[in-house]
Amino acid sequence: MAGSGVSSVRIRRKHVPPSRIMESLGAEYGPVRWAPRYDPASELVYTILSQHTSDVNSHRAFGSLMNHFGSIEAVADAPVEEIEESIRMGGLAKVKAPRIKETLRIVRERVGSYDLSFLAEMPMPEAKAWLKDLPGIGPKTAAIILCFSLGMPAMPVDTHIYRVSKRLGLIGRKVSADAAHDILEPMVEPESVFAFHVYLIRHGRAVCKARRPLCNRCVLASGCPSRPLFE
Ligand code: SF4
Repeated sequence: MAGSGVSSVRIRRKHVPPSRIMESLGAEYGPVRWAPRYDPASELVYTILSQHTSDVNSHRAFGSLMNHFGSIEAVADAPVEEIEESIRMGGLAKVKAPRIKETLRIVRERVGSYDLSFLAEMPMPEAKAWLKDLPGIGPKTAAIILCFSLGMPAMPVDTHIYRVSKRLGLIGRKVSADAAHDILEPMVEPESVFAFHVYLIRHGRAVCKARRPLCNRCVLASGCPSRPLFE
C-alpha cells in the first residue's frame, strides 16, 4: 500500500491521523534530512553490535572494530577470537563475534562480495525478504539497513515508536513490534517515512516518555486516545 497516500490508510480505532502527526511533529521538531550512516554491510554489522545494548556501547564497539580491522573484508577474514576482543566493550562479545563472522560468511557466499548496494534496486518487499533470510535478521534490522544505509522508505520500529504508536492508536494494543512494521510503514507517503520514524522517536524521548508521558506539553494531546489514562 506504500505510495497510496495517507488518506487511504484505514485505521478503525480512535487515533491521531498520521497526516496530523507529520504536521504537528514537523512543526515541533523541524525538518529532517536523510543522510547515509554506513554502507549496507557495515550497517549490518553495526545492527548486530547494537543488539541488547545501548547506542553508546554499540557505537564504541563498531568504532573499535573498524579501527582494528580497517574494513568489513578484514573483519570477515579475521579469527573470531580477534573480533571478539575488539568488540568486548560493547557487551555480549562472545555471542556477537561469531554472529558477525557467520553473517558475513553467508553474505559473501550469496553475493560474492560484501557489497549490498544491489538491494536498493530490488522492490522493497524482496529486499526485506533477502535480508530477513540472514540469521538473526528480523523486520527491524532489515528496515534499519534499507533505511539508514540505502535511503529506502522502510520504517524501523524501535521501542519509542512502538510505544508512541500504540498510545496514539495507530496500532492496536496487541500488535507485536514485528507486525507493527507493516502497519506503520504505509501510513505515510514513501518520501515521509524517514521523517515519520525520526519524529516518533524524538517525541517518545522528549514528551511521550515510557513512564510518565508529558501529555500537558504534547502537541498531539487533543485527539490522543491515551491522554485520559495519564491525567
Ligand atoms: S497525549 Fe500523552 S500519551 Fe498521547 S502522544 Fe502525547 S504524550 Fe503520548
